[in-house]
Amino acid sequence: GSSEIKSTSPKSQTGALPSTASHPRKVAVQKSFSLSSGAPAMRSQVNNAKTTRPVQESGGGYDSKLVEMINSVIIDHSPAVKWEDIAGLEMAKQALLEMVILPTKRRDLFTGLRKPAKGLLLFGPPGTGKTLLAKAVASESDATFFSVSASSLTSKWVGEGEKLVRTLFQVAISRQPSVIFIDEIDSIMSTRTENENEASRRLKSEFLVQFDGVASSSGDLVTVIGATNKPQELDDAVLRRLVKRIYIPLPDANARRLLLKHKLKGHAFSLPDRDLERLVAETDGYSGSDLQALCGEAAMMPIRELGSNILTVQANQVRGLKLGDFQKAMTVIRPSLKKSKWEEIEKWNREFGAS
Ligand code: ADP
Repeated sequence: GSSEIKSTSPKSQTGALPSTASHPRKVAVQKSFSLSSGAPAMRSQVNNAKTTRPVQESGGGYDSKLVEMINSVIIDHSPAVKWEDIAGLEMAKQALLEMVILPTKRRDLFTGLRKPAKGLLLFGPPGTGKTLLAKAVASESDATFFSVSASSLTSKWVGEGEKLVRTLFQVAISRQPSVIFIDEIDSIMSTRTENENEASRRLKSEFLVQFDGVASSSGDLVTVIGATNKPQELDDAVLRRLVKRIYIPLPDANARRLLLKHKLKGHAFSLPDRDLERLVAETDGYSGSDLQALCGEAAMMPIRELGSNILTVQANQVRGLKLGDFQKAMTVIRPSLKKSKWEEIEKWNREFGAS
């Protein structure tokens, strides 16, 4: 994750919750709230009484600067991720559909025993689509997407982390349905260590308090999605709350085929099926983002051959990609991590995973 907190809010401010899964997705990004004139300003802008309510001034109150920060810095202008942008991961998609998307569309059906879990964990090697999945879940359920990257949360908000967490949940409740995505959740919610500093201990307990708040309120549609590649380092108290744990593995041959086809869409390439199969076999151990980088590197090969002609060549005269380009690219783009490293995660999955 790169920036501190971002949110995309593809939902409409005026409409009721859509009732079918196939409604056209609204991609317009909402204007951020302005709290410069205090809470009433926010109240007046929160006009969807059914799904939003004002930020509560509870406890020591909230810091309007932080709210503003969450609403402005957090707006993510990147286009919404669509379900079909994600290659493979069918089991994870099915689980997320049942746990987050359908319950926001049919609140009436998902009550009692069917009450959805409020916390879930996506774990697996980096670059396998965890962030993509969380973003797609948010846009498919018309939810406001809060993306908190743990590393920046701890560095940029030294001393304020606890307050930020509290405000974040308040804003999330006011703009629900909401998805709070915490990347590298292990780094702020790790097992307690002896030399753990006071600030991070407080941040963690605040998170637990806030999480329990939304989890116990049946009316709030706030889902917390944590992502990690070190699930074994997560604090037990946090782990207990992320009741659904979905393993996002490195792509198998099938998923790599889908990913390669997906990444090459729109590019000229002449890869007969036989070559594609070879490529699929030779990229065992590559993650989704490794494959993305590989395709990018391969796509540069025909350009490099042009030499000084690059300035005059017609775009449609650049030759298509061949297997050789990918094989050359593979000497530069290697799988980012050793496969053996993931055996530990697989073991953890067998013990604690959901599926
Ligand atoms: P993670 O959060 O697991 O570290 P990301 O979701 O940020 O990984 O994925 C990084 C990039 O890798 C994405 O932007 C995308 O280009 C590519 N990628 C990874 N997995 C997939 C997938 N299943 N389908 C499509 N693209 C993927």
